[in-house]
Amino acid sequence: MRYDLHTHSTASDGTLTPGGLVERARAQGIDVLALTDHDTLAGIPEARLAARRCGLALVPGVEISVTWGGMTVHIVGVNVDIAHPPLLEGLTRLCEFRGWRAGEIGRRLEHKAGIAGAWAGACHHARGGLVSRTHFARFLVEQGQARDMQDAFVRFLKRGKPGYVAGQWASLEEAVGWISGAGGQAIVAHPARYDMTATKLRMLLGEFKECGGEAMEVISGSHASHEYPVLAAQAEKSRLLSSAGSDYHGPENPWIDLGRLPPLPKACVPIWHDWELPRAAGQ
Ligand code: AMP
Ligand code: MN
Ligand code: MN
Ligand code: MN
Repeated sequence: MRYDLHTHSTASDGTLTPGGLVERARAQGIDVLALTDHDTLAGIPEARLAARRCGLALVPGVEISVTWGGMTVHIVGVNVDIAHPPLLEGLTRLCEFRGWRAGEIGRRLEHKAGIAGAWAGACHHARGGLVSRTHFARFLVEQGQARDMQDAFVRFLKRGKPGYVAGQWASLEEAVGWISGAGGQAIVAHPARYDMTATKLRMLLGEFKECGGEAMEVISGSHASHEYPVLAAQAEKSRLLSSAGSDYHGPENPWIDLGRLPPLPKACVPIWHDWELPRAAGQ
């Protein structure tokens, strides 16, 4: 069975519709796919319908933005009940913050960097879904203000740059609580991508576990292969289950495609070790 438990659609900052993502995942040989848009479950119903049509197990998921220790970290939830009120209310709060933040990023880009029209441009790229920094980056590249997405983040959108607005996301306890309250399992997303010392990462994983978190991503599209054994050892030491997800955002990024993830290292206990597929399918 091929699993990919971390992907995005147009409901957040991916470029494929939920249905298009599911079809591409199936074509790329994935059997079990989690749609985990940033701070929203809006894409799940469409993804479910498409998954039924093409015979793939769709895991309802979400990637929640969290402020922890003054930094932003991402917590993926899988197998969540998408009608669970506290989860929905929590995500609504984060999306309201996103709405305000988008306007503020637009104002700062205009006042500090002299770039007009960024808010409208980002909203256009978001096509009615929630607005993320990715949409601002796409606008900046399109306007010729940045060479590519990475350049747009480095010059305008990262901490210390003119368009940066500090996150006011969920607490770790809230995010894990919303996920487990909705019957799901919480996963620390791409732990090697945070600008964190090893000590701080151990603290994060410890607190995450105390809150009821169950797993961390060992295999991720945004991890380098030399990081896999280090993260596998970390998962074992922290007594966390292991997860694997591409963090796919669409075909524009040639570095990450669906269906290309290597298997989890042998020592890992996969988060799906006790899943029955009907449960995983959420159907
Ligand atoms: P936001 O949640 O709105 O702050 O946006 C974060 C998103 O921006 C991440 O989920 C990535 O998809 C994207 N992102 C963050 N850093 C970079 C980067 N350096 N280059 C390209 N995309 C990035
Ligand atoms: Mn993203
Ligand atoms: Mn992330
Ligand atoms: Mn992601």
